[in-house]
Amino acid sequence: MVGVWKGRFFRLEEHLKRFERAWKALKMSPSIDLPSIRQVLFECVRRSGLREAYVEMIVTRGVPQAGSRDPRTYDNCFYAYAIPYVWIQSIEKQKKGGHLIIARDTIRIPESSVDPTVKNFHWADLTRGLLEAYDRGGEYVVLPNQKGCLTEGPGFNVFTVYRNELWTPPSGVLEGITRKTVIELARNEGISTRVEDLSIELARSSDEIFATSTAGGVMPMTVLDGISIGKGLPGRLTQLLHKRYWEAHEDDRFSSKVDYN
Ligand SMILES: *Cc1c(COP(=O)(O)O)cnc(C)c1O
Repeated sequence: MVGVWKGRFFRLEEHLKRFERAWKALKMSPSIDLPSIRQVLFECVRRSGLREAYVEMIVTRGVPQAGSRDPRTYDNCFYAYAIPYVWIQSIEKQKKGGHLIIARDTIRIPESSVDPTVKNFHWADLTRGLLEAYDRGGEYVVLPNQKGCLTEGPGFNVFTVYRNELWTPPSGVLEGITRKTVIELARNEGISTRVEDLSIELARSSDEIFATSTAGGVMPMTVLDGISIGKGLPGRLTQLLHKRYWEAHEDDRFSSKVDYN
């Protein structure tokens, strides 16, 4: 999905590139090309009239021939729609930050089973983890991998700030456009950024934690497994990157204006 903010798509070309790579990786081929998809997305937003929108693009394997179990023969389907902007964490909640749980009972599906760099809704692990987080009094979940390092949550990537350096996992995650944007913005600010394995221990000793997603942007997490992170409020670097992230939405280098007429 891609976001529209103040009547402008944010990093649409990046989303389209990722989308095309994803359906190819799954050996699917919608009967529509990328320039036409781009047009359809603009048209969805134009017709909806929404200035702040969540714009979904999906390719499904589609409908099998009667009685067939051969996925190569299915007619792949393309869907797109625009709905009002979706917040994984409300603006109000972003001032306080969320309660993040590291799942104990569920690890992320291994990369060798489902490629996490292909955006997909194969979410049984993430959903099970989220239900565990709710049972434990939390609001958000991050799943570890087999090695005890953090991966990601349902629809978001995770960052921590440890000794003034920004950390985010290098692999086993969807390469979020928000994640990429935050890494670029941090490097612009001269913040040392380490895209490296992030152990559970390092996360527990961190001064700041935040999640990133198109559906909500930079989302502070101020409690981890029932214990306050830092001062229990959104940290300095989290707030700076939050500000820069939303500023980028009005920057011509990152955004494309919708013509509503
Ligand atoms: C969509 C998604 C993200 C966030 O990606 P963005 O491009 O920043 O929206 C992270 N993890 C998973 C599993 C996702 O589905």
